[in-house]
Formats: sequence, C-alpha cells, structure tokens
Amino acid sequence: LISRIPLPQKKDELHVLSKTINNLLDRIETAVEREKQFTSDASHELRTPLTVIKGTLEVLVRKPRTPEEYEDRINFCVSEVDRLNYLVDQLLLLARFENQKQSLKMERLYLNAVVLDTLSRHSGKIQAKEIEIVTNFSEEFYIKTDYYLFSIIINNLISNALKYSNKNTKLAITISKGINTIECSIVDSGIGIDSKDVGKVFNSFFRSDATEHPEIKGTGLGLSIVKKLCALLAIDIDISSQKNVGTSVILSLHEEDLK
Ligand code: ADP
Repeated sequence: LISRIPLPQKKDELHVLSKTINNLLDRIETAVEREKQFTSDASHELRTPLTVIKGTLEVLVRKPRTPEEYEDRINFCVSEVDRLNYLVDQLLLLARFENQKQSLKMERLYLNAVVLDTLSRHSGKIQAKEIEIVTNFSEEFYIKTDYYLFSIIINNLISNALKYSNKNTKLAITISKGINTIECSIVDSGIGIDSKDVGKVFNSFFRSDATEHPEIKGTGLGLSIVKKLCALLAIDIDISSQKNVGTSVILSLHEEDLK
C-alpha cells in the first residue's frame, strides 16, 4: 500500500495537485488489485481441472480396472482436457483484446445476416432444446464494425441465451432504429439471473447460480470478453434479467458506426 500525500490546509494549487496525485494512486491501486484478483482466479480455474485429471489418472494407475471403467475414466479426463483447452482459448482471447484499438478492421456489415448466420451455427442446440426463434428486423440494417470481434459478441450472447434456457422456450432477436442508434436486443425466456447478481455478470470468472445448475458448464469469461469488445467497438451494452422469467441484452450501435 502506497501512502497518500497529506492534503495541505490551504486550498491552493498544491492542494489541488496533491489531491490529483492521491486520486491517481487510488486508481493505480484498484487496477493492481483487479489484476491480482484476475491472476489468482485464473490460476484457480486452471488448476482445478488439472488436479482432477491428475487424481483420476493416479487412481487408475494404482488399481487395475475393468475395460469399461478405464474407458469411463479416460473419457472423463478427455472432457476435463477439453474444458481446460476452452478456458485457455478464452484467456488468450481476453489478453489479445487489451489495447487492440489500432488493429481494428472496420468494414460495412449487413447486421441482419450476421445475426442469422450466428443463429444457424447454433441450429443443433436450437433444435435439441426446441427453442422457438422469433426474429424481428424492421428493415435491412448495415453497420460499420470489425466483423471478427463483432461476431464474437453476437455469438457469446446468443450462445448464453440458448445455454441458460430450458426446453420449449422462446428466444426473440429484434433489430430496430433508435435515436441516432441501431438497437439489437436478444431476449430469452430462460432461467434468468438473480437480481443481486445482474450487476456482476461482466466480471471475469463470475458465474451466477453455478451451484444451482451444475449441469450448465461455463467459465464465467464469456460476458467479460463481450464487455471488453463492446468497449473497443464503442457499442453500449445493457443487460437486465429476472429470475425464472428471462434475460434481455440490448446492444446500441451509434450513428458513427452506421456510416
Ligand atoms: P459462462 O456462461 O461461461 O458462465 P458468462 O461470462 O458468459 O460465463 O456469463 C456469466 C454468468 O452470467 C453465467 O454464469 C450466468 O450465470 C449468467 N448469464 C449470462 N447470460 C445469461 C442468460 N442469457 N440467462 C441467464 N443467465 C445468464
């Protein structure tokens, strides 16, 4: 902890300067703390599957098993390795987007098609869960953005909407014109998020109700990636949710992104 400069009594330039430096120190300390927390959460998340794999293999080596048992335990290890792989990919993605502003490849995109393409990539899950997709695009919308990064945003949001929805529910995607904006809303009628947790979902590694729904797998990194990318692309994002009712995410693209 760095000590702060005691503020001089007199409200002169020195007072203002000291106050500014103290504020700066506050911000540096918060950033360092956040970085430390991230590293500690990341190592915990990486270590957990490794420990599980090691434990499983050690037990297998120690005691002979039936071929079925071998197969079952090895398949379990493979799924943990897959999870680890996914986690590492997401961590790399997060790291890559820090200060990436210079290398954005802005191009004119047909927004309606980006959404429809993403939906078709998830058609397997949509069919399996019998989710009714309702798209409502009032006209043909074009935006100027980085295709690769923007598709990650849309893909993560649609993927979450499907993942956190039960069978036979509805997912509505609307694109409409706001005042100097285009709004794209993704509204599911899934399990929703507890009101105490809605404000935390953009934090890295945060998972709401992870214990209530252990069958829904995730890393808690998807929305923090989305948040970071939205900041890079100057897109506003707003999330609201009600438990057992559903979640709504609204992306607002500004006029300058439309030219
Ligand atoms: P992950 O899905 O890998 O856990 P995310 O960062 O994408 O991580 O989301 C963080 C948390 O926010 C999720 O664990 C979940 O609790 C909640 N969440 C995100 N999207 C939705 C949604 N559409 N419906 C319900 N909960 C959601």
